[in-house]
Amino acid sequence: KSGFVSIIGRPNVGKSTFLNRVIGQKIAIMSDKPQTTRNKIQGVYTEDQAQIVFIDTPGIHKPKHKLGDFMMKVAQNTLKEVDLILFMINATEGLGRGDEFIIERLKDTKTPVFLVINKIDEIHPDELFSIITNYKDLYPFAEIVPISALQGNNVERLLDQIKQRL
Ligand code: GDP
Ligand code: MG
Repeated sequence: KSGFVSIIGRPNVGKSTFLNRVIGQKIAIMSDKPQTTRNKIQGVYTEDQAQIVFIDTPGIHKPKHKLGDFMMKVAQNTLKEVDLILFMINATEGLGRGDEFIIERLKDTKTPVFLVINKIDEIHPDELFSIITNYKDLYPFAEIVPISALQGNNVERLLDQIKQRL
Protein backbone atom coordinates (compact mmCIF):
# COMPACT_ATOMS: atom_id res chain seq x y z
CA LYS A 1 0.00 0.00 0.00
CA SER A 2 1.19 3.49 -0.69
CA GLY A 3 -0.31 6.92 -0.65
CA PHE A 4 0.04 10.63 -0.02
CA VAL A 5 -0.78 12.27 3.28
CA SER A 6 -0.85 15.96 4.10
CA ILE A 7 -0.48 17.22 7.67
CA ILE A 8 -2.15 20.55 8.32
CA GLY A 9 -2.72 22.60 11.43
CA ARG A 10 -1.82 25.83 13.15
CA PRO A 11 1.84 26.58 13.95
CA ASN A 12 3.22 24.79 17.03
CA VAL A 13 0.59 22.07 17.22
CA GLY A 14 3.37 19.50 16.74
CA LYS A 15 3.46 18.65 13.04
CA SER A 16 7.27 18.56 12.83
CA THR A 17 7.53 16.61 16.08
CA PHE A 18 5.19 13.99 14.65
CA LEU A 19 7.17 13.75 11.42
CA ASN A 20 10.42 13.55 13.35
CA ARG A 21 9.08 10.61 15.29
CA VAL A 22 7.68 8.80 12.28
CA ILE A 23 10.35 9.47 9.70
CA GLY A 24 13.44 10.51 11.58
CA GLN A 25 15.27 13.57 12.64
CA LYS A 26 17.19 14.54 9.54
CA ILE A 27 14.41 14.84 7.00
CA ALA A 28 12.01 16.81 9.16
CA ILE A 29 14.71 19.29 10.17
CA MET A 30 15.55 19.87 6.52
CA SER A 31 11.92 20.47 5.69
CA ASP A 32 11.67 23.21 8.33
CA LYS A 33 13.80 25.56 6.27
CA PRO A 34 11.67 28.41 4.99
CA GLN A 35 11.31 28.06 1.25
CA THR A 36 8.77 28.49 -1.49
CA THR A 37 8.63 25.05 -3.10
CA ARG A 38 5.07 23.86 -3.14
CA ASN A 39 3.67 20.35 -2.70
CA LYS A 40 7.01 19.45 -1.26
CA ILE A 41 7.68 15.97 0.03
CA GLN A 42 8.46 16.26 3.75
CA GLY A 43 9.40 12.66 4.19
CA VAL A 44 8.59 9.10 3.26
CA TYR A 45 7.70 6.43 5.78
CA THR A 46 8.56 3.03 4.38
CA GLU A 47 8.04 -0.46 5.69
CA ASP A 48 7.50 -3.86 4.06
CA GLN A 49 3.78 -3.44 3.53
CA ALA A 50 3.33 0.29 3.20
CA GLN A 51 4.77 3.54 2.02
CA ILE A 52 3.39 6.84 3.22
CA VAL A 53 4.53 10.04 1.49
CA PHE A 54 4.03 13.10 3.67
CA ILE A 55 3.37 16.24 1.66
CA ASP A 56 3.81 19.77 2.97
CA THR A 57 0.84 22.10 2.46
CA PRO A 58 2.04 25.67 2.99
CA GLY A 59 -0.51 28.43 2.73
CA ILE A 60 -3.48 26.70 4.27
CA HIS A 61 -3.57 29.31 7.03
CA LYS A 62 -5.53 32.52 6.99
CA PRO A 63 -3.95 34.74 4.29
CA LYS A 64 -2.30 37.92 5.56
CA HIS A 65 -1.72 39.44 2.13
CA LYS A 66 -2.37 38.97 -1.57
CA LEU A 67 0.26 36.29 -2.15
CA GLY A 68 -1.52 34.43 0.61
CA ASP A 69 -4.61 34.17 -1.57
CA PHE A 70 -2.63 32.52 -4.33
CA MET A 71 -0.92 30.17 -1.91
CA MET A 72 -4.31 29.28 -0.51
CA LYS A 73 -5.47 28.08 -3.92
CA VAL A 74 -2.35 25.96 -4.29
CA ALA A 75 -2.94 24.53 -0.85
CA GLN A 76 -6.57 23.78 -1.67
CA ASN A 77 -5.52 21.84 -4.75
CA THR A 78 -2.96 19.89 -2.75
CA LEU A 79 -5.65 18.87 -0.29
CA LYS A 80 -7.79 17.55 -3.13
CA GLU A 81 -4.94 15.49 -4.56
CA VAL A 82 -3.71 13.68 -1.46
CA ASP A 83 -5.26 10.43 -0.21
CA LEU A 84 -5.64 11.56 3.36
CA ILE A 85 -5.42 14.76 5.39
CA LEU A 86 -4.23 14.82 9.00
CA PHE A 87 -5.68 17.91 10.68
CA MET A 88 -3.62 18.33 13.82
CA ILE A 89 -4.73 20.37 16.82
CA ASN A 90 -3.15 21.15 20.16
CA ALA A 91 -5.10 19.54 23.00
CA THR A 92 -4.06 22.31 25.38
CA GLU A 93 -5.54 25.12 23.29
CA GLY A 94 -9.15 25.85 22.62
CA LEU A 95 -10.73 25.96 19.22
CA GLY A 96 -9.27 29.08 17.63
CA ARG A 97 -10.23 31.13 14.63
CA GLY A 98 -7.27 29.58 12.82
CA ASP A 99 -8.85 26.15 13.27
CA GLU A 100 -12.25 27.36 12.05
CA PHE A 101 -10.61 28.82 8.97
CA ILE A 102 -8.90 25.51 8.18
CA ILE A 103 -12.13 23.57 8.72
CA GLU A 104 -13.88 25.82 6.19
CA ARG A 105 -11.17 24.93 3.65
CA LEU A 106 -11.65 21.24 4.36
CA LYS A 107 -15.29 21.51 3.37
CA ASP A 108 -14.20 22.09 -0.25
CA THR A 109 -12.48 18.70 -0.49
CA LYS A 110 -13.70 15.12 -0.56
CA THR A 111 -10.42 13.80 0.82
CA PRO A 112 -10.90 11.93 4.12
CA VAL A 113 -9.68 13.88 7.15
CA PHE A 114 -8.38 12.52 10.45
CA LEU A 115 -8.58 14.86 13.42
CA VAL A 116 -5.29 14.31 15.28
CA ILE A 117 -5.43 15.68 18.82
CA ASN A 118 -1.81 16.13 19.84
CA LYS A 119 -0.14 16.83 23.21
CA ILE A 120 -2.50 14.60 25.18
CA ASP A 121 0.34 14.15 27.67
CA GLU A 122 -0.49 17.68 28.85
CA ILE A 123 -4.19 17.23 29.56
CA HIS A 124 -6.61 15.28 31.74
CA PRO A 125 -8.76 12.56 30.09
CA ASP A 126 -11.91 14.56 30.89
CA GLU A 127 -10.56 17.46 28.85
CA LEU A 128 -9.88 15.11 25.95
CA PHE A 129 -13.48 14.00 26.05
CA SER A 130 -14.77 17.57 25.79
CA ILE A 131 -12.37 18.40 22.93
CA ILE A 132 -13.65 15.41 20.98
CA THR A 133 -17.23 16.46 21.67
CA ASN A 134 -16.55 20.02 20.47
CA TYR A 135 -14.78 19.09 17.24
CA LYS A 136 -16.94 16.14 16.28
CA ASP A 137 -19.84 18.37 15.25
CA LEU A 138 -17.71 20.72 13.16
CA TYR A 139 -16.70 18.29 10.44
CA PRO A 140 -17.32 14.65 9.53
CA PHE A 141 -13.85 13.43 10.44
CA ALA A 142 -13.04 9.92 9.21
CA GLU A 143 -11.19 9.25 12.48
CA ILE A 144 -10.41 11.15 15.66
CA VAL A 145 -7.02 10.11 17.04
CA PRO A 146 -5.51 11.48 20.27
CA ILE A 147 -1.70 11.26 20.34
CA SER A 148 1.40 12.57 22.00
CA ALA A 149 3.92 13.15 19.22
CA LEU A 150 6.51 14.02 21.85
CA GLN A 151 6.12 10.90 23.99
CA GLY A 152 4.93 8.62 21.21
CA ASN A 153 1.56 7.67 22.72
CA ASN A 154 -0.78 6.24 20.10
CA VAL A 155 1.52 7.14 17.18
CA GLU A 156 1.76 3.50 16.04
CA ARG A 157 -2.01 3.23 16.14
CA LEU A 158 -2.35 6.39 14.03
CA LEU A 159 0.08 4.92 11.48
CA ASP A 160 -2.05 1.76 11.33
CA GLN A 161 -5.18 3.82 10.74
CA ILE A 162 -3.41 5.79 8.01
CA LYS A 163 -2.32 2.58 6.28
CA GLN A 164 -5.89 1.31 6.31
CA ARG A 165 -6.94 4.36 4.27
CA LEU A 166 -4.28 4.08 1.57
P1 GDP B 1 4.72 22.60 14.29
O1 GDP B 1 4.86 24.09 14.20
O2 GDP B 1 3.28 22.20 14.11
O3 GDP B 1 5.64 21.86 13.37
O4 GDP B 1 5.07 22.20 15.81
P2 GDP B 1 6.43 21.58 16.39
O5 GDP B 1 6.53 20.14 16.04
O6 GDP B 1 7.56 22.45 16.04
O7 GDP B 1 6.13 21.63 17.97
C1 GDP B 1 5.92 22.84 18.65
C2 GDP B 1 6.24 22.65 20.14
O8 GDP B 1 5.32 21.71 20.72
C3 GDP B 1 7.63 22.08 20.40
O9 GDP B 1 8.16 22.71 21.54
C4 GDP B 1 7.37 20.61 20.68
O10 GDP B 1 8.34 20.02 21.50
C5 GDP B 1 6.03 20.66 21.35
N1 GDP B 1 5.27 19.41 21.19
C6 GDP B 1 5.03 18.75 20.03
N2 GDP B 1 4.31 17.62 20.25
C7 GDP B 1 4.09 17.57 21.59
C8 GDP B 1 3.40 16.62 22.45
O11 GDP B 1 2.86 15.61 22.04
N3 GDP B 1 3.38 16.93 23.77
C9 GDP B 1 3.99 18.04 24.28
N4 GDP B 1 3.90 18.25 25.59
N5 GDP B 1 4.63 18.94 23.51
C10 GDP B 1 4.70 18.71 22.18
MG1 MG C 1 6.90 22.66 11.86
